[in-house]
Amino acid sequence: PAGQAGAAPAHGPLLAKDARHALHPWADLSTLGKQDALVITGAQGVEVVDSRGRRYIDAIGGMWCVTVGYGREELVEAMAAQARRMPYFTPFGDVANEPAIELAAQLAALAPGDLNRVHFTTGGSTAVDSAVRIAHLYHAAMGRPEKHHVLSRVDAYHGSTYLAASLSGKEADRVRFHYEDRWVHHLESPGHDPDNSPLSADDRLTGLLDGMEAAIARIGPENIACFVAEPVLASGGVLVPPPGYHRATRELCRRHDILYVSDEVVTGFGRLGHFFASQDRFGIVPDMITTAKGLTSGYQPLGAVLISDRIADALAGTADPGKPVFSNGFTYSGHPVACAAALANIELMRREDICGHVRDVGPYFIDRLRELRGSPIVHAVRGDHLMACVECRVPGESGPTPRNMALAQRVDAYCEAGGLLVRPYENLCIMSPPLVVDRAGIDRIAGIMAGALARAEADLRAGTVAAG
Ligand code: PLP
Repeated sequence: PAGQAGAAPAHGPLLAKDARHALHPWADLSTLGKQDALVITGAQGVEVVDSRGRRYIDAIGGMWCVTVGYGREELVEAMAAQARRMPYFTPFGDVANEPAIELAAQLAALAPGDLNRVHFTTGGSTAVDSAVRIAHLYHAAMGRPEKHHVLSRVDAYHGSTYLAASLSGKEADRVRFHYEDRWVHHLESPGHDPDNSPLSADDRLTGLLDGMEAAIARIGPENIACFVAEPVLASGGVLVPPPGYHRATRELCRRHDILYVSDEVVTGFGRLGHFFASQDRFGIVPDMITTAKGLTSGYQPLGAVLISDRIADALAGTADPGKPVFSNGFTYSGHPVACAAALANIELMRREDICGHVRDVGPYFIDRLRELRGSPIVHAVRGDHLMACVECRVPGESGPTPRNMALAQRVDAYCEAGGLLVRPYENLCIMSPPLVVDRAGIDRIAGIMAGALARAEADLRAGTVAAG
């Protein structure tokens, strides 16, 4: 049973306070002050319960992050024990704490290649920011300070700080904020719709690589610091690049001395069946990896940049003699309680062979979802292991049109009514369930989703799905 519904505070007053005082991340500003929040008050296994006592299977995994499931006492115990022993002390300069030291060593052992140096951050955005700053510092240390431009991609999502948001390439997210556009460049998206593309995978790959080479030539390789790339673009719509893309882009970067930063905030920690997907799934050893989310299974906020020895040694060996300080890092970098959660999480993942489980059930998840393509309102289903999305469309209409988005919202609402939480984005229903989900749980997800699609299709026929 999920959570303790009985212990939940009264629903009405809670919602009134939320509506009056909270500005949620990624809130719909047109409903600010009137928001009718879903208040999650309890959770167990792969289920959550809300303040009205309704239960849901959590196909969002918190927010891509709850991997080993809810209610894992050993993570809670590890956090409590560390909080009792020593909750916090500065990580700055030559000061360290035991869990952070131990976690850095374990991450180095899990990471591919010579990524043996770990810089802790507070989450994914700050990990991405830090990776770009380290790339800048590296090239400056090598005597090439002009190498500071950054390559990202359309449809990427790298976070919500100024720099990470600038790297993000989702057009719909670009609003009246300011973005760094002088030295951040967006390459073509690996593409939304391989199943419905007239091009072969090889042709798509060639097009993407030609585009990347052209961008490098235009900007000048002597000006480019790094390429930041999610192995599978997550929030942009679970976009899986064509086979060979990772190795080829890695090679292009190597040829032009552009550092390759693999943003594994979502794909790391088991979601694709490995602790890190870069090498084990896609055959590349990046120069840096960013990680967060599943690092603690969402039990604590924590992020990290894993850095190659080559980069770290260069930074150390050529530090500015007058100012040798690495002036990057956060009050809560390597927070002891968060690191204790991550250590317990890694131990649990190893003991229960969570990655092996994902390799086992991941293809079943994708197969079950692919069956939904029989619905006339499903345009595409795509994904890899336990990250997937169902793209909805009014027959004959493709992309995030107002009607397609309204339809997807309807699907999402029916999923919620049926006891399933998916993540709505434009005309997509995105799913990343806890990695401990079993076949029965996957059947439930697919079954509720199928029912929701059927009801939304009936509404469409009845003419009750209005755009906007
Ligand atoms: N990178 C990727 C690939 C992400 O999906 C996210 C968050 O969804 C981030 C970075 C930002 O992480 P955070 O929200 O912890 O700052």
